[in-house]
Amino acid sequence: MIKYANEKGLSTMISTNAMLMDEKICKEMIEAELDYLIVCLDGFSQKSLESFRGKGIKLETVKSNIEILMKIKGKKKKPFVTLQCIENNYNLSELKQVENFAIKNNINKFHVKSLYIGTKSGNYEKKLGEFFSEKLKKKRKSNMKIKLKSCVLPKQQIAVTYLGDVCICCLDLNATYKVGNLLKESLRDIYKKKEYINTYKNGLNRKLSICINCKND
Ligand code: SF4
Repeated sequence: MIKYANEKGLSTMISTNAMLMDEKICKEMIEAELDYLIVCLDGFSQKSLESFRGKGIKLETVKSNIEILMKIKGKKKKPFVTLQCIENNYNLSELKQVENFAIKNNINKFHVKSLYIGTKSGNYEKKLGEFFSEKLKKKRKSNMKIKLKSCVLPKQQIAVTYLGDVCICCLDLNATYKVGNLLKESLRDIYKKKEYINTYKNGLNRKLSICINCKND
């Protein structure tokens, strides 16, 4: 699929928790010239990682798979690898360790991603209390004072919900700013709509209500 997309002139990106990313898969992704790879490491202890991702995730496997990937990649340019850590209640004191791991393994970019919990997700209130502490809220507030550049995500992606609703970024978990629906119209037509163009511009300029607490760059 990666090769096919490349042949059609499309850029390719995979986001993974790295649990199944063994040597064979790493080699295949590199040989197929994947453009971007996001590997998620949401903590640096087994406890914080499994509290957030569930019991199936194993810290040592994730770390070892990332090390294997970076060894195989060596000096090759592709894929551009981002180590992403979703900031939450459990990993606040471990962010530096995750960053150091990224530096040690020559990862291209380390990114602390803001946590979002869709209001329509099951047990919303419970999850909010568990993952989003007062301490994290305060940290978010002080981060809001930092002026961020425009957001590039709407240039890199488009999000489609299970109902076919199209949004300009994957953080619009409730499809608040849906710009069309793939079950009723084509993506080509959606791109031409005023609604899409305006929402896209507002997203780039961080002017949507969903952008208020977002640190993505
Ligand atoms: S700043 Fe806005 S458009 Fe950009 S990723 Fe965050 S929510 Fe999406």
